Amino acid sequence: MTAHQAALEALTRYFGYDSFRPGQQGIVEALLAGRDVLGVMPTGAGKSVCYQIPAALSPGMTLVISPLISLMRDQVDALNDLGLPAAFINTTQTPDEQAMVFAQAAAGQIKLLYVAPERLETGRFRDFAARTPISLIAVDEAHCVSQWGQDFRSSYLGIGDFIAGLPQRPPVGAFTATATERVRRDIVGLLGLRNPAVTVTGFDRPNLYFDVVKLETKYKAAWVARYVADHPDESGIVYCATRKTTEALTDTLNQMGHPAVAYHGGMSPDAREAAQRDFITDKVPVVVATNAFGMGIDKSNVRYVIHHNLPESIEAYYQEAGRAGRDGEPSRCTLLWNESDIVTRRRLLDNDYENERLTPEEQEIVRQSKRRLLDGMVGYCRTTDCLHRYMTRYFGQELSPNAGSTAGEDIAADSSQSGKCGACSNCESTFETIDVTRVAQAISRCVHDVGQRVGSGKIVKILRGSRAQDLAWLNPERMPTFGMLKDVNEARVRDVLSQMATDGYLSIAEGRMPIVMFGARAAETAAPDFHYEIKRVERKSEAAGSGR
Ligand code: ADP
Repeated sequence: MTAHQAALEALTRYFGYDSFRPGQQGIVEALLAGRDVLGVMPTGAGKSVCYQIPAALSPGMTLVISPLISLMRDQVDALNDLGLPAAFINTTQTPDEQAMVFAQAAAGQIKLLYVAPERLETGRFRDFAARTPISLIAVDEAHCVSQWGQDFRSSYLGIGDFIAGLPQRPPVGAFTATATERVRRDIVGLLGLRNPAVTVTGFDRPNLYFDVVKLETKYKAAWVARYVADHPDESGIVYCATRKTTEALTDTLNQMGHPAVAYHGGMSPDAREAAQRDFITDKVPVVVATNAFGMGIDKSNVRYVIHHNLPESIEAYYQEAGRAGRDGEPSRCTLLWNESDIVTRRRLLDNDYENERLTPEEQEIVRQSKRRLLDGMVGYCRTTDCLHRYMTRYFGQELSPNAGSTAGEDIAADSSQSGKCGACSNCESTFETIDVTRVAQAISRCVHDVGQRVGSGKIVKILRGSRAQDLAWLNPERMPTFGMLKDVNEARVRDVLSQMATDGYLSIAEGRMPIVMFGARAAETAAPDFHYEIKRVERKSEAAGSGR
């Protein structure tokens, strides 16, 4: 029997599936052939099978390194039920229980052993690993090794040494749903992967319609209410940034006669469970939630996911929006955003000193990395390119037929021929580009005129020549920029100012009142070749405007 046939046979025998999902078979065969692997697949794509099948088919034991102690028991129980002897060693066990697992593993009775990375640092485990034949090592959530990802864990840094210290180095499979280039390089480097077969797959979801809507905050609730009203028979999730917004929006919907439940981490466990149950059993069609909602929730008929605020990264967005349309039916993922959302996100990030386990230098690296992740999200809001293409490209999966063996298998309909996917608002819109160089320069000069001392509202007023009382103390009429943008409408000036803040020409300083200051790129606005533009949706086609 070839490796190919053996893998397929094991997939059916142990897991009861009749075919592999994209990417799985290549990974299984590479590991069985003794090769290291880096598997980049979204959550839910089926990474576990990629190492569980080689584990089943290999003579010795497979060591699975996972950060999630709380999930180990379930994973291990499930494997034992399937006929694959598995166990874990972790801090939830008594010394006796641990001793029993060590003994069973030493006797060759365990095929898969799950441990957290901290375990590898203990002398007892190292002795055990030196004496026990290990056929394969699987590192789950491998991005935790990188300070450039979302969830850096310093204990992951010891995995590379552990592997290098084994008397016989087995093939290593590293798995993650995070795919930025920097993180991937770290995984390969820090885990010491040798010429790994890199597989990136499964990121496109052709049945999802991606929709980006730029909308001022005050109009968002009404937008959501209208969408919900227009889709009364559909199940949907509305993600909000704060608990307060979650509750306010739930109240609004209920008052308008659209049944909805709130879900957030501030609710009692009972209330959360009840909300979840009502949503899953279709008793209530809409859940309005913070990002606390969704982990481990398996509801296949979610027809839409609306983001009322900007998520912190494409990874987070993909995971939350991806809860729509699990059944493969057409579903819609809408992101509502505006420039001030971006400014708020940036501010939160700069003030985030939460992770006390890290040194100040490490914290700065993490902060920088989060800034870059946010830039990826901002890029998604701003791009006029196909949103499916943007998303898959972000994850390193090119939607072109030549991109690789597994990449590109799930191309959104027709994208290769027309360049238009037919399943995102950008492909169904036409954009106009507006030259706002003069506006941007005037804003920059005005920030100078006021000595970086006032907020955006006052700057807009001065530029538009307002004689409002609250400006009198500044004596604006003496300023060269007073009234300079009298001919430009106020909303446009605000828009340009916000975009300049997100692009780094300005920065908004925190305080009792936000103050507009110069950003790192401020000097560029005075350069003779400075050019600045904004893009606006000129026209959305009917399909893009209506719901699915
Ligand atoms: P990940 O670790 O990538 O988040 P899992 O390994 O937990 O994903 O798999 C997600 C779900 O997909 C599981 O229920 C799993 O049993 C199922 N699955 C995995 N591979 C296949 C397959 N080839 N065919 C059908 N279902 C699969």
